[in-house]
Amino acid sequence: MLVDLHNHTTLCNHAKGSVDEYIQKAIQKNIRYFGFSDHAPMDFDLTYRMTFKQMSIYEKWINDAKIKYQNDITILLGYEVDFLPNHIDKRVLNAKVDYLVGSVHFLNGWGFDNPEFIGRYKHKDIDVLWQLYFDTIKEMAKSGKFDIVGHLDLIKVFKFLPKKDIRLIALDALKAIKKADMVLEINMSGLRKPIAQTYPSKELLLEAFAQNIPITFASDAHKPEQVGLFDKEVIALAKEVGYTKCAIFKNRDRTFLTI
Ligand SMILES: [Zn+2]
Ligand SMILES: [Zn+2]
Repeated sequence: MLVDLHNHTTLCNHAKGSVDEYIQKAIQKNIRYFGFSDHAPMDFDLTYRMTFKQMSIYEKWINDAKIKYQNDITILLGYEVDFLPNHIDKRVLNAKVDYLVGSVHFLNGWGFDNPEFIGRYKHKDIDVLWQLYFDTIKEMAKSGKFDIVGHLDLIKVFKFLPKKDIRLIALDALKAIKKADMVLEINMSGLRKPIAQTYPSKELLLEAFAQNIPITFASDAHKPEQVGLFDKEVIALAKEVGYTKCAIFKNRDRTFLTI
């Protein structure tokens, strides 16, 4: 796998391993562009992310690694930012990074992908919940603040699936993503979760391809051994769907590489 733009560090309080260990694994996996996009700080949730004060530590870790490994691999710096209106901080949006990943992990303040709060699903109409999730993705795209859409269909993580056609639920979100000129990541972390699928699924990726939305790749590793764990699967999926290129970012500037 040539490119992997979504990986975490211990600063988020729910990942293991040093920056060096992640990078060594990436080199071993023949990744040429390896990006960290750890959970950006946010006042709403202080538990599963770095603090605002730690941003400088994080940026120094990754910027030092860029130099240390420059002969072996290109290291990139990003943040995974929660799209939670009224909690998106300028310090994050204005950070000197290569790219920002926009993700939805909270719906009305509920961390729906956190197994701790899985009990709440039984009080929900799943079709309504899915539509709310994709409407929030649409708003995230329309905000124009992010480069990459994180795990497009994360709402499927625990296999609570809608009765309605998922392509219809996601249609407006995909149109907004296209209009905002954003990139979709093919995120392999779903293969480690109950749903056991990539984010997005093949059916949504086909829709994205039909709309000419570009892609990149993401391990979403929270441990070094998760770097490139399903690299062959995600590359095969991208090619099957018809993609021939993937995106990388430097200083918020996008270029494409042949996969
Ligand atoms: Zn995480
Ligand atoms: Zn995420």
